[in-house]
Amino acid sequence: MESRSKLKLGLAGLLMAVAVGLSLHHFFSGESVPDIEETKTVWYCTDCDKSFELSGRQSSTMVSKQPAENRESDAGQPTPHRAGGRFVELARCPGCNEQSGVRARRCHDCETCFRARTEAGAITVCPKCRWNPVTDKKADEE
Ligand SMILES: [Zn+2]
Ligand SMILES: [Zn+2]
Repeated sequence: MESRSKLKLGLAGLLMAVAVGLSLHHFFSGESVPDIEETKTVWYCTDCDKSFELSGRQSSTMVSKQPAENRESDAGQPTPHRAGGRFVELARCPGCNEQSGVRARRCHDCETCFRARTEAGAITVCPKCRWNPVTDKKADEE
């Protein structure tokens, strides 16, 4: 009897190890991005001056990549410090339905959403508390 229950225990342990191994394998090899909170991206509409969020699934249909140099809206307008060959990602704004959403960032400090870069491509700090995403500190504290 005793050896039987030991065998059972051993089997259970083996099954457990296999299960853990499988889930670990799944965890490390998982390439598809699930449509959950973590895949949300923040955008800022330059027309509405408002930020909005897109889930991973939404951003695959709402976001388009455009060459930074040939944007129609830029035609005839001088844009300072335009980086050559750079692509900009623009998201369709749910508010005005225009492709005017630029990449935004959520402040780690006060949770304000603000555009990640200026028109010229410079990193922006939080307009409210001056949190700097590069140093993860407030600009005033540097
Ligand atoms: Zn808008
Ligand atoms: Zn802030």
